[in-house]
Amino acid sequence: MTKRKNKTKETITFPASLLKPIGKFLVEEEKKIIKKIINLKKEDPFADPSRASNNASPDTDAEEQFGHMKNAAIRDQLRRRLVQVRKALTRVKIGNYGTCEKCRQLIDTDRLTIYPEATICIKCLKKEEKPKK
Ligand SMILES: [Zn+2]
Repeated sequence: MTKRKNKTKETITFPASLLKPIGKFLVEEEKKIIKKIINLKKEDPFADPSRASNNASPDTDAEEQFGHMKNAAIRDQLRRRLVQVRKALTRVKIGNYGTCEKCRQLIDTDRLTIYPEATICIKCLKKEEKPKK
């Protein structure tokens, strides 16, 4: 293998030995998340047309409303996670997995072990989470 080294700092890459299991994990995650979203959709009280038409009492109505909101919120979270997982998968394929998409530094492997779909490093994440004043 002949690799031309350009004299930039771009020599840091994610260890290849870790890429394979992470790629596999991400594929599994993707499947799991999609499954969860589908199941949640089925559980959504609003998804059942027969329920919506025969509201027994305002109580059940409120309960269903709450159930729907909770369900939708979880689905929303899962969908966002799915986007992250797919993004990470693409990065595994194109070979820039493990580097921060903001600062181009290598993301801490400890962070990636807990949160393999991470696409930015902790430093940049903290910067992003800080509310702008
Ligand atoms: Zn960063």
